[in-house]
Amino acid sequence: MAIVEREPSAQQQQIDVENPATGAVVRSVPILSAEEVRTLAERGRAAQPAWEALGFEGRARVLRRAQKWVLDHRERLIETIVSETGKTHEDALLAEIGYVGNAFGFWAKNAPEYLADEKVRSANPFVLGRKLVVRYAPLGLVGVIGPWNYPLSNSFGDCIPALAAGNAVILKPSEVTPLTSLLMAEAMRECGLPDGIYQVATGLGETGQAVIDEVDMVMFTGSTATGKKVMERAARTLTPVSLELGGKDPMIVLADADLERAANAATYYSMQNGGQTCISVERAYVEAPVYDAFVAKVTQKVKALRQGAPAGPGSVDVGAITFPKQLDIVSGHVDAARSAGATVLTGGHARTESGRFYEPTVLVDVDHSMACMTEETFGPTLPIMRVNDAEEAVKLANDSPYGLGASVWTSDVTRGEALARRIEAGAVCVNDAQVNYLALELPMGGWKSSGLGSRHGAGGIRKYTRQQSLLVTRLAPKRDLHMFPYKAKTTGLLGRAMKLLYGRGKRD
Ligand code: NAD
Repeated sequence: MAIVEREPSAQQQQIDVENPATGAVVRSVPILSAEEVRTLAERGRAAQPAWEALGFEGRARVLRRAQKWVLDHRERLIETIVSETGKTHEDALLAEIGYVGNAFGFWAKNAPEYLADEKVRSANPFVLGRKLVVRYAPLGLVGVIGPWNYPLSNSFGDCIPALAAGNAVILKPSEVTPLTSLLMAEAMRECGLPDGIYQVATGLGETGQAVIDEVDMVMFTGSTATGKKVMERAARTLTPVSLELGGKDPMIVLADADLERAANAATYYSMQNGGQTCISVERAYVEAPVYDAFVAKVTQKVKALRQGAPAGPGSVDVGAITFPKQLDIVSGHVDAARSAGATVLTGGHARTESGRFYEPTVLVDVDHSMACMTEETFGPTLPIMRVNDAEEAVKLANDSPYGLGASVWTSDVTRGEALARRIEAGAVCVNDAQVNYLALELPMGGWKSSGLGSRHGAGGIRKYTRQQSLLVTRLAPKRDLHMFPYKAKTTGLLGRAMKLLYGRGKRD
């Protein structure tokens, strides 16, 4: 992280970063003031033109070095991620190192193609002979504001395409998990990224606001409530935003599904990362004929999960609850459901003797009057509801303010895809969940209250640029037909030409 001259009073403003699995304080980081964020912004803006001038190949060299760094230093990175999130070694390896390892190479390779000049041909004879080009120019300074659940993938990961496009970046990581972003600053420096191109602004919401005020574009990942505040703040300076927000992903299991695979997936994708994934399976709808068998399988698998403080590879399956307030939300959803008549088949309690945990939990006898079926729980819980048929399942799946991801499970993939197209979500898998996120070629973004814009694919890097249209006229007369002075004869000619072009033939 860049060292900023700090006022004596500001030096007292620190955040203690805690290991959620043990309760120990790992390290403290400063809370940056608006003034300090401004200093970072000035440094970023001063450094950016040289980074842009390096071109795609020059920037890709740095990104490819960083890709190798991440893999070479994966144990150190995993240790840092685990220490501030309490997630398991495997959750850090698979969904964080794996993601960023892929992303560095992907953007290094694809940025030149996604951002290449596009030659355009116009069908309009009035611009005949002109050269028409769309180009993508970096915005300058991008602000990335991230959540606590994936400090590497969802905070740093979004910086990669912004950097590949030629921008300087200020990352405001979550106050709960800032250490991984700081480690990546060290990594990027070692890999030859020029000073000022990637800077970390540690702090709380106010620091995030200061970032919004300074940058040319905001990439935000976090809760829907904060996303709205970010958009409001950005409106003051007319700064564009891309918002990746909360979700309540439904899983629809049809009677003809491979039940064993569906049960394994339901268990994994609801409990992986302690259920603290934006695209976790948050609720399941199962067709009546297979409901009992599915519930029995899932309950048995969830009961077998080992939970506790991660102690290296293979030590536990489900880690801690990273964010203190999240434990209250998860407990609140389960307790309220229980009071309203839901049955807890396994789990159902917080465990806080040492560290912060919530038992892997399966709930049945649930319905849409309960928060566990309608609000984002973001914990290791899976409420399962019986439905009469696919129609009812689709209706219930869409009965949500969210629309991030969803999945449909059936052996009839044609029917599965047809149902997927009726689900109101930015990404829907058939006989899978979450893995769409690994295909960086596929856009990933939320519908409804789950977001605005998307990451990945061409749009996932073009959003970090300004589109510029170029029209170049090489050969032209001294005076075009439409220019002054207006003459009745020419006007008549142009009118007839328009009629010929746009007004011929009959219409319905
Ligand atoms: P959050 O909204 O509480 O915080 C996110 C970030 O915003 C933090 O860095 C925080 O300090 C900052 N912030 C808070 N107030 C701010 C303000 N007024 N202005 C600017 N920044 C401000 O979210 P969280 O609890 O850290 O993360 C969990 C949420 O993130 C869940 O809802 C989850 O679904 C969502 N999420 C979404 C995706 C996705 O891709 N859609 C991915 C991961 C997480």
